[in-house]
Amino acid sequence: MKKPGWFLAVLVLIPVLAVPADRSRGGAGRLEDQLLDAVYRIDISTIRGTLAYDPAASAVSGSISLVFKMRPGQTRPLFHFDPLSRGSLTGYTVALDGEPIVGFGSNGLKLFTLPGTTQPSIEIGRDITDNNEHLLTVDYRLPLDLPYPRFASNVNDIHGRGNEEVWPTINTPGELARHELTFQVLGSVPYRFIGSGLVQKSPREDLQEWTLDTEREVASYTVMFALLPQADTVYEERMINGTPVRIMAFAGGASIAQAWTQITPWLPDLAAKFGPFPMPRGLSILLLKEGGGMEYYGGTISSVGALRHEINHMYFGCSIIAKTYRDSWWDEAATSWYVDYAQSMNAIPTGFRSNMVNARSPYAVGFDTRAYYEGAEAFETMARAIGGRQALVLFLADLQARHTFEPFTTLQLADYFREFSGVDLRSDFINWFYQGKTPSSAESSGADAAANLKDADWTVPDPVAARYRASAARRNP
Ligand SMILES: [Zn+2]
Repeated sequence: MKKPGWFLAVLVLIPVLAVPADRSRGGAGRLEDQLLDAVYRIDISTIRGTLAYDPAASAVSGSISLVFKMRPGQTRPLFHFDPLSRGSLTGYTVALDGEPIVGFGSNGLKLFTLPGTTQPSIEIGRDITDNNEHLLTVDYRLPLDLPYPRFASNVNDIHGRGNEEVWPTINTPGELARHELTFQVLGSVPYRFIGSGLVQKSPREDLQEWTLDTEREVASYTVMFALLPQADTVYEERMINGTPVRIMAFAGGASIAQAWTQITPWLPDLAAKFGPFPMPRGLSILLLKEGGGMEYYGGTISSVGALRHEINHMYFGCSIIAKTYRDSWWDEAATSWYVDYAQSMNAIPTGFRSNMVNARSPYAVGFDTRAYYEGAEAFETMARAIGGRQALVLFLADLQARHTFEPFTTLQLADYFREFSGVDLRSDFINWFYQGKTPSSAESSGADAAANLKDADWTVPDPVAARYRASAARRNP
């Protein structure tokens, strides 16, 4: 995800309060794995089902199944689905292996939030004691309440808001699942669809329908989808360096020509540095006029200005994957270091301490926005420790060659770096990411404000917006 440019200036101006919190990381990765098993409880292999979008009603009818096994030592399944947690669905049923689970109550569903995260969990009042695959099915009606008739992913990884806003899942980067989703549009207005993975238009004539298949297990918050009215949009596709690239934009909005100018040299550069484009079905782009961008698996919803940053995330964040949200500082750091600070970057200051990883629990959502600058400084220090920028590019290529789709933690990154280079920065990593102060609340709220602004800019260009104002006026004279 890319922030607007004024962001750093704001952080620098905010006074830092001293809040001691030098908890060092207790225990090994195995303990953290056990903790994550206890918190997330299920291991999803597939998320499958249908999302039927009704533009006239601004609502979606979903029927989604999770195919899962219990994680080691766990018996009581749970899932994340925020509209259900908030009570904002207008109807739903839940079934486990075909058996209905009746509402919230003693033997039905239980809502809770653990200390250390804002992510609510919904527990199912049944125990599973075997190691077999099970099926959790949720049928629901999700109101969108949008002034403009779109249905699209709207992930913000700084906040840690993922697709648990749209379908039941587990919201953490390290829980990977294949997504096989069917998107339908009700009514006669023609729509366009782009999204992650293999997208195919179905031959059905009674309604508009597309299937999306990620074809492999990916983090749920990296699944992109976008349905927009065909008449309001323009669409182009090209093959660049062997990678199919699709761009959809609002008519009269962002410049697709400018996007091609960015992308055409960029994909070959990334392939030469880090390896073949990691997604076999290529790249789908929903191009918006202003703001930053958000990366997805084989896709991005982005402004032209953020495109190169988001496309770099195809390598770092969408195929080399952080184990937890708090570890995902390094996909921003790698991307900022390679893309945004390519011309010059400082090494991390001597004696630098931060708790940008361990100020959060391993199951907290979102990441520390010091990732962008201080994280990039850490990457620059790593580069200088092994001979400079080209050497670190080789290390990043080695990560891409050996560690894709196997989520790993911050300290595992230090281990991989030592294995590659012989340089052990583990104790530096502990200082840089697991010591030091918690940012002041003022600093945190500055970061929150930036994260809010990083939300995709869905402003609809005037000629398009005027049409909807006119039709609303006709409906409500
Ligand atoms: Zn980013």
